[in-house]
Amino acid sequence: MQTEHITIKDLSLQENDLSRAAEILRNGGLVVFPTETVYGLGGNGLNADAAKKIYAAKGRPSDNPLIIHIAVPEDAEKYAIPNDTYRRLAKAFMPGPLTVILPKRENIPTSVTGGLDTVAVRCPAHPVAHRLIELAGIPIAAPSANLSGKPSPTSAAHVAEDMDGRVDMILDGGASEIGLESTIVKLDGDRLTLLRPGGITYDALCMVCDHVTVADAVTHQLAEGERPLSPGMKYRHYAPHRSRRAS
Ligand code: AMP
Ligand code: MG
Repeated sequence: MQTEHITIKDLSLQENDLSRAAEILRNGGLVVFPTETVYGLGGNGLNADAAKKIYAAKGRPSDNPLIIHIAVPEDAEKYAIPNDTYRRLAKAFMPGPLTVILPKRENIPTSVTGGLDTVAVRCPAHPVAHRLIELAGIPIAAPSANLSGKPSPTSAAHVAEDMDGRVDMILDGGASEIGLESTIVKLDGDRLTLLRPGGITYDALCMVCDHVTVADAVTHQLAEGERPLSPGMKYRHYAPHRSRRAS
């Protein structure tokens, strides 16, 4: 596959480029795009075949679910069943580096969620990501844009090393400002479990939620056969002190 490389220098003058990228996504193709955390490998989050293409391009095990990216926090309602705690978190941290696991609606294929009945939702702050999702008019399923087992990319040059020839388009939006994955949390009513450390700290979450616990897979290496709440945690231990992460 021939990969088209586009550098976004001025978003307001490059609406056509983003419209083309959005069309590729709507039609089931793959577009790598910048976010404030790391670069994402995007596909149509409503399309099971697009999810399969993402897993193939990354060489990722298909039981490791994808995060869906939305333009505004309220859009979570279309694809998941949010609660009041979600709305409080959204007010405090969205758009931004927080991913929330919620019960999924029927329109999200189980191939996106690795067979789970929950879906991970994030609303990125990066202007290119935001406009791309808005123009696409669909949720964009996107894991980090690296080959499975390699570090998550924080620049388009990193991305190209792994993804050239595997995706339809790479949008270069400069270096990722945070350079660290999103924090992942799971909600059970007003109880929050931290599944993956990232851009939003434990202390920041405690300011918004009264009941915050940290998943075992975050604090110690799981024993053989132990099942983490976040399937990705079994493939690579996410140590809080490393600045670039794998998988
Ligand atoms: P990445 O796509 O590389 O940023 O990784 C996404 C992470 O989110 C992986 O560790 C997944 O296991 C985790 N994840 C995505 N969806 C869910 C879900 N529904 N439940 C638990 N963890 C999830
Ligand atoms: Mg990753």
